[in-house]
Amino acid sequence: MEPISPLEQALHAARALVLADLVAGEVAEANVVSMVEESVVQRRWWVEQWPEGVEFVAGLLAQDVQDALLERYGRWPLCPVCEAGDPHALDVEPELGPDPHWVCHKAGVKVAAVGALGSAAGGTPSS
Ligand SMILES: [Zn+2]
Repeated sequence: MEPISPLEQALHAARALVLADLVAGEVAEANVVSMVEESVVQRRWWVEQWPEGVEFVAGLLAQDVQDALLERYGRWPLCPVCEAGDPHALDVEPELGPDPHWVCHKAGVKVAAVGALGSAAGGTPSS
């Protein structure tokens, strides 16, 4: 068996994180999952051109999927923090960096790490 390259490991992990957030938002339908797969293919090419970018893949993949969903589905993920006012989407920070988080710029808070939206939105109190 061929060892799995660090690139494939990073892409696999990024894919799993974004899918976890899609499941948490109940938008992980077949066509949405195929959008994630398309983005993984594009980011694989991108990291092959720029190997130093490998640790940014999770944040970039989340933003790719967010953009693709905005065109076809609507804002995602909706902010679970602000109860009043217009529904708005969370943003990924850093846009280009390791350890990406979903943040609400309106409330100025970090909501959850990418991949951990389920625990933020699921009503489990954080201790
Ligand atoms: Zn908010």
